[in-house]
Amino acid sequence: LNYLANQLSNASENDKSRVFAVLPDNTEINYGDLFENAEKVAAALVASGLQPGDRVAAQVEKSITTIQLYLGCVIAGGVFLPLNTDYTPPEVEYFLVDASPTIFVCTPEKEGALKPVTIKANVTTVLTLSPDGKQGSLVDACAAQQTGFEAIPRTADDLAAILYTSGTTGRSKGAMLTHKALASNAHTLAKVWHFSESDRLIHALPIFHIHGLFVAINVTLSAGSSLFLLPKFDIDTILKLFSDATVLMGVPTFYVRLLKSQALTHDAVQNMRLFISGSAPLLSETHAQWLDKTGHAILERYGMTETNMNTSNPYVGERRPGTVGKPLPDVEVKITHPDTGETLPIDGIGHIQVRGPNVFCGYWKMPKKTAEELSPDGWFLTGDIGVLDASGYLSIVGRSKDLIISGGYNVYPKEVELIIDDINGVVESAVIGVPHPDFGEAVVAVVITKDDVNEEKIKSITKQNLAGYKQPKKVIFIDELPRNTMGKVQKLALRERFDDLYP
Ligand code: ATP
Ligand code: MG
Repeated sequence: LNYLANQLSNASENDKSRVFAVLPDNTEINYGDLFENAEKVAAALVASGLQPGDRVAAQVEKSITTIQLYLGCVIAGGVFLPLNTDYTPPEVEYFLVDASPTIFVCTPEKEGALKPVTIKANVTTVLTLSPDGKQGSLVDACAAQQTGFEAIPRTADDLAAILYTSGTTGRSKGAMLTHKALASNAHTLAKVWHFSESDRLIHALPIFHIHGLFVAINVTLSAGSSLFLLPKFDIDTILKLFSDATVLMGVPTFYVRLLKSQALTHDAVQNMRLFISGSAPLLSETHAQWLDKTGHAILERYGMTETNMNTSNPYVGERRPGTVGKPLPDVEVKITHPDTGETLPIDGIGHIQVRGPNVFCGYWKMPKKTAEELSPDGWFLTGDIGVLDASGYLSIVGRSKDLIISGGYNVYPKEVELIIDDINGVVESAVIGVPHPDFGEAVVAVVITKDDVNEEKIKSITKQNLAGYKQPKKVIFIDELPRNTMGKVQKLALRERFDDLYP
């Protein structure tokens, strides 16, 4: 038995004619087609030399074939390793040399530029896949295969994927994810978010990241739902789909951008039952505006590459803005003291640690880092700082690497950002620590405004609300915060940009 393939195909076993995906050209792919083609991919991968446990790396655009490549890899007993489509050949080199995949799939245009990289990484077979998923040597190899490939047996504890983290705080790390971690999270999320066969998900996220790949696709498969597969986020397409779809999964920037449209009304989303947000913090203001314009409270959840999803606001019950909800069933969350590691009482701010079947089994080829962050009894030190309240809701205060230590005092950027974001005329802010000769680090606020707000005003308001050591020493106005494709603010980039403010 192939543990994950079996779990993900269960819901559609009885009705293969059910639609899995509606493609951009309105073609429908049913569950029967999906798995039949995935089996052909599996056969093609095995014919190309894939042995159980081998990595299959892919830097390809989003298409139904890419989803079948993921499933085919799992069925063939391989370990799927998707790469951000924005990575340049020198960046891809790091991942290929690190992960030493047997097979690498890329777009035909990039094959030439990546050739030296694949040679360096000892890749056995390079296959190509066109951006629309219809052409390339992978497609040809599949066409030559028979249907009915028997899935290679894999246990719950075997690896299904190595997913690299986003690289927000430093170099990306390969998180090793087992069949069980992926399957258990998919089932849990499908259940707590009330997914059913009648759901139609708007899929506008990239599929090289945990959010679009495992949260969106695995949940759809495990509930037997269907999805609208969009090549990318596009406001008009999404607004149109609201009348046909039932769920949207997005990063906060999706919601911010959709809110700018006049066409977003209560009526326009009548058919929708759920809006989910994650991967980066959703501003309370965005939550409030969305509620006002649509009547829907966005459901925010919290997860990461290493753990899948850990907490979620409730489907039934209060979805509390500014929080990421409560631990999912089977997932434990504790807040620990940064120095002693002791569990803190309610309302104490500290490191977020999680444990559960969803948690990864280590960083690929990083035994030391794994030992530091994943304890033998299963607790994972997430690198996020947060606080649990008396009713069990978790709030994220920031990342431990973004914590500012100024004059020996800890400053949690979020606390300062919330005050600044509340000022009239401020769109958003990022508070960072920059090197300072006296204080070690100085608190600096990088602010985006829409109206006339000056440094004076921000300083006077933070002064009224915050202790001296937390108040920004400088306020810098820029046009836009640097963000990656998942909408994450790149604080590392900001710190580098402003690291010589106090020479
Ligand atoms: P790296 O680990 O390489 O520095 P990364 O942590 O950004 O990059 P991901 O695994 O993609 O890589 O992102 C997980 C992180 O995203 C979490 O640790 C958390 O900081 C943030 N995150 C996810 N969901 C939320 C949320 N709802 N609110 C706030 N932050 C979130
Ligand atoms: Mg991380």
